[in-house]
Amino acid sequence: MSKRVEASQDSESARLQDIVSLCKRRGFIFQGSEIYGGLQAAWDYGPLGVELVGNIKRAWYEAMTRDRDDVVGLDSAILMARQVWQASGHEAGFNDPLVDCKNCQERYRADHLREDQEKLGIGYDVCPNCEAKGTLTEPRQFNLMFKMNFGPVADDNSIVYLRPETAQGIYVNFHNVQQSMRRRVPFGIAQVGKAFRNEIVTVNFIFRTREFEQMEMQFFVEPGTEDEWFEQWREIRWGWYRAVGMNMDHLHWHQHGPDELAHYAKAAWDIYYDFPFGSKEMEGIHNRTDFDLRRHAEFSGKDLTYFDDQANKRYVPYVVETSVGVGRMALALLCEAYSEDVVDGEKRVVMRFAKNIAPVKVAVLPLSKKEPLVALAKEIRRDLRHVGLTQYDETGGNIGKRYRRQDEIGTPYCVTVDFHSLEDQQVTIRDRDTTEQRRVPIADLPAILSADLRG
Ligand code: ATP
Repeated sequence: MSKRVEASQDSESARLQDIVSLCKRRGFIFQGSEIYGGLQAAWDYGPLGVELVGNIKRAWYEAMTRDRDDVVGLDSAILMARQVWQASGHEAGFNDPLVDCKNCQERYRADHLREDQEKLGIGYDVCPNCEAKGTLTEPRQFNLMFKMNFGPVADDNSIVYLRPETAQGIYVNFHNVQQSMRRRVPFGIAQVGKAFRNEIVTVNFIFRTREFEQMEMQFFVEPGTEDEWFEQWREIRWGWYRAVGMNMDHLHWHQHGPDELAHYAKAAWDIYYDFPFGSKEMEGIHNRTDFDLRRHAEFSGKDLTYFDDQANKRYVPYVVETSVGVGRMALALLCEAYSEDVVDGEKRVVMRFAKNIAPVKVAVLPLSKKEPLVALAKEIRRDLRHVGLTQYDETGGNIGKRYRRQDEIGTPYCVTVDFHSLEDQQVTIRDRDTTEQRRVPIADLPAILSADLRG
């Protein structure tokens, strides 16, 4: 997106700026290599960011594998033989069309440029950034794979690529997994891992980065059953977003038209999320046919067919793929959670994360820094370790300020330990969303919070 198009969406970009600044201030996400001026589009996840993305990945992996009987996990290497990318078609064709403005030097991806021009209502020969006419270059193809050399000798024989998708690691292990796990088709392989794309333009915080993580699943099915499985997976994936606290009104389906469809794909539907900078792709669900397995069989010379001994049939399975970026998902959940309201006449920022996604589950706050209150509060915190990550905050400031600090990072529950607790062995649980408080026995606290966090 050009800078002008971004600026034209004022209130929404202000909202994104608020989220970016909260992420930095509260230890979610930092600019990569910041002390050296920052490396563009590279981001580091801080202590709370690690928890956030860890919870997203866990929720995805559990829904995909533990909650089902027909999908297993894999963690394949990032670096793979060069032939993998020749077979998959990435070496020859994983290109984006690059356009430069000779006047202002702004750089565009040709398909995004057209979108920007349409948004601003200007001609296709006008630069959306500086509005000069006739200064845009012809699109030239640019391969998005990072190329490197494997080992000490840098020549054509040592070329490897940083993988631009995790899916190929699944295809090349199809037989290994199927045979070692004695799997019958239909079954799937799920993987979470890093991918790298030398994107032409990177904007909008962590939406499009050059290093990112994907959560991908390839589901192998008998040819002829792929349409039915495709519909099932569309429904399953859509339902998952509800489980991680998404407002479903903010999600939309986008079906790829014939001009968008990859040459090997039979059908492709994306799940779009309403980001502050527009409705954009978050997840892709693709019917990749038998293209990848056939190509790997051809290039490797290995038989990648599957023999169904019950039906006495041999075939190359078709594949239904689901693919979502971890960072993109984290950004969507940060946007979804961010809200401002007024409590006791004071403005507060509150991250309304779903409980399974919130980085910190419970904060324990003694009303005073003095003993024996501190000892009791620390003991309470120790007994809560099994509910997830907890924080302990005895810093000065009134309790209201400490609640606000927890609201800002989305902690669902605060436990306040006061002088009365020493006598009646009870503490106060304060709820992030309603700000309601209830008094409960210390002995029951772990069971109550475990149940509430699950509920
Ligand atoms: P786009 O059109 O946005 O470039 P794509 O259609 O090329 O995306 P896929 O190849 O289908 O994306 O990748 C699957 C998912 O991986 C995307 O839906 C997105 O969530 C994530 N993803 C892809 N590229 C990036 C990137 N550069 N940064 C962050 N996430 C990405």
